[in-house]
Amino acid sequence: MLLIFKLLLYDAMSRQVLPRDIKLLYGLSAARCNICEKVLFEPKINEDGYVHIGQMAHNIAYSEHESAPRAIDGLSGDNSYQNLILLCANDHISVDQNTALYTIEYIRTIKNNFENSVRIRLNNAVRPDKSLVDLIHSNYNLQALIYSLNFPLILLPFNIGDIIDMENFLLEPNRPTSYPFRDERLNGLMLPILELAHQLSPYIISYYSPSNVGDLRPIREKQIPVNEQAAITNIVQNLFQSIFNWLEYCRINYS
Ligand SMILES: [Zn+2]
Repeated sequence: MLLIFKLLLYDAMSRQVLPRDIKLLYGLSAARCNICEKVLFEPKINEDGYVHIGQMAHNIAYSEHESAPRAIDGLSGDNSYQNLILLCANDHISVDQNTALYTIEYIRTIKNNFENSVRIRLNNAVRPDKSLVDLIHSNYNLQALIYSLNFPLILLPFNIGDIIDMENFLLEPNRPTSYPFRDERLNGLMLPILELAHQLSPYIISYYSPSNVGDLRPIREKQIPVNEQAAITNIVQNLFQSIFNWLEYCRINYS
């Protein structure tokens, strides 16, 4: 009898979500539904307090019963932070009834993406990095530039010179932004662009001149030595990849 009581007590306790896991769920989601982003505390009208519409939904069902949402044979989900996702009551119903859409993997992705976006959006709100990223993109059309880097031994875009000037632009003192960036990843992506621009600069000065259609072309009278042709091609290919990596990171984290 005592054993049964102990088992029942153990079961009741294990069904509870530990305070540590609740803090993680609500904290990392900024108390918002991970699907519709609705704030999960609605202030009461004409009285103190809040209506709480948040629910800690299981990814893998707590019950092993085969009809339970995302139940896996013989494997019960638990009440850990890892197996829970913070949702509003409406979306909790959706994920538990539409299990063909809301698979275990998809729910994990939704939760990871949402928590990550909360972190990034709040970081961006308090850091000057976003202003500088926006300023760079409004002054330099990097997207257009990389599509003109395909045939460096035939032509280079005229605005390649802008990239060479970009370091001076970044270090311009009279601006309410700061460089280097606070986000170390941004620095790691910008440095190779600046470095490659430095490497390319002497070749442009030696071998290219503006054409009458507005780009830079190799000067006919100056044959570029084969080893320098290879160097130019290599630098420009790396520059393309570096700018592409920069744009991709900014698109995800700073748009
Ligand atoms: Zn929702």
